Amino acid sequence: MSPDSEELLSAVREAVAGVTKKWDRTYYMDCTRRGVAPTEMYETMAQQGLFALGVPEALGGAGGGLTATAAVMEEMSRAGTPPMLFSLTSFARQSIIRHGTPEQIRRLVEPTLTAQQSMCFAITEPDAGTNSFAMQTLARRQDDGTYVLSGQKIFISGADQATHIMIVARTTPASEVAKKSEGISIFVLPRDTPGVSMTAMNIDWKAPERQFSVWFDNVVLPSDSLIGVEGKGLSSMFDSLNAERVVIAAWTLGLGYLALNKAVSYARERSPWGAPIGSYQGVSHPLARAKAQLEAARAMNYRAAERFDRGEEAGDDANIAKYLASEASYAAVDAAIQTHGGSAFDEDSDVITLFPMIRILRVAPLNNEMILNYIANHMLGLPRSY
Ligand SMILES: Cc1cc2nc3c(=O)[nH]c(=O)nc-3n(C[C@H](O)[C@H](O)[C@H](O)COP(=O)(O)OP(=O)(O)OC[C@H]3O[C@@H](n4cnc5c(N)ncnc54)[C@H](O)[C@@H]3O)c2cc1C
Repeated sequence: MSPDSEELLSAVREAVAGVTKKWDRTYYMDCTRRGVAPTEMYETMAQQGLFALGVPEALGGAGGGLTATAAVMEEMSRAGTPPMLFSLTSFARQSIIRHGTPEQIRRLVEPTLTAQQSMCFAITEPDAGTNSFAMQTLARRQDDGTYVLSGQKIFISGADQATHIMIVARTTPASEVAKKSEGISIFVLPRDTPGVSMTAMNIDWKAPERQFSVWFDNVVLPSDSLIGVEGKGLSSMFDSLNAERVVIAAWTLGLGYLALNKAVSYARERSPWGAPIGSYQGVSHPLARAKAQLEAARAMNYRAAERFDRGEEAGDDANIAKYLASEASYAAVDAAIQTHGGSAFDEDSDVITLFPMIRILRVAPLNNEMILNYIANHMLGLPRSY
């Protein structure tokens, strides 16, 4: 990491501390139990200028790039308060910054700098899943230039809290394109657009945000809802998705460090045989291994972020970082559970409560098998099996 980044990170750390001192893990879990949005936390994040990070100063943002965004996510997660809407909005707006018109940036990005507007991201469909090319949600262009959008998305996180939905949809059905990667477009629409409805899914991942099935029933979209070029949404999407991998890696890393720190504190104190259990290598080695894995994943993640910020191809590093970070955090939480013994399963110790989210981040937003496919196919040049 460059000295510039070190300076940036310490400024971010200080600003995040201004949020998490007030809106801590207890507050976050209280919101989770009550099923309410952590609105106060987002307000304080906005006051600290954190939502403006990651957007170039020329566009009214505070700069700092993806490196700063990842740092916010990691620090907030280390405190046990991962800000999901911040994460979604931060990576979704990358497509608009890079491919939107000045008017779209004014309308859709500027209000996110103060958290007046936020975005959720809708790509997953019931029958397509990992295979996004098989998506069926269709936006048909009308003679007057508007689009009519119909289809269903599932697992859409924070769909009830975000003011806007960034949706990936087909503008040409898969059966009518030469390559299945063609005919896919990105739109952004206000969540309360007529024809949009949603139902909460039953996912308990110990977070204040829920996932939703979202239906689009002949939703009329003005032509300026389209981001970038019609049918060429895939490349715009990858600007958001590479950013997403880095932000998600930072998210899971922060939680991994939190689990590890809790385990280390417990291992120093707990002494059923007289000596602290942390003196037994059966306990300390899994924790030491997790520490090594977390540090390696973190270094890779900041390398990916810096590449992205320099405008270089960051896909390889971003994919590796997401893979390593989610596996390292999983190792950390598993070791933390083992270290805590039975008390890990008492929700009051707040160990088992870290598990579902860390485990999910090996599956979502992109499962680790697909990342290994990416590494095998794109980096090693091995043939695809699917
Ligand atoms: C808590 C949570 C939040 C989410 N939030 C969002 C969101 O905000 N927006 C959104 O659009 N989606 C969201 N998702 C959806 C998530 O991105 C998908 O669950 C994920 O991409 C996997 O898709 P799937 O569940 O359909 O799995 P499937 O495609 O059915 O795959 C199942 C399993 O098969 C394996 N697999 C699949 N394909 C391959 C392959 N080619 N090679 C090897 N193995 C393979 C993997 O192990 C995978 O886990 C969320 C999911 C969860 C659980």
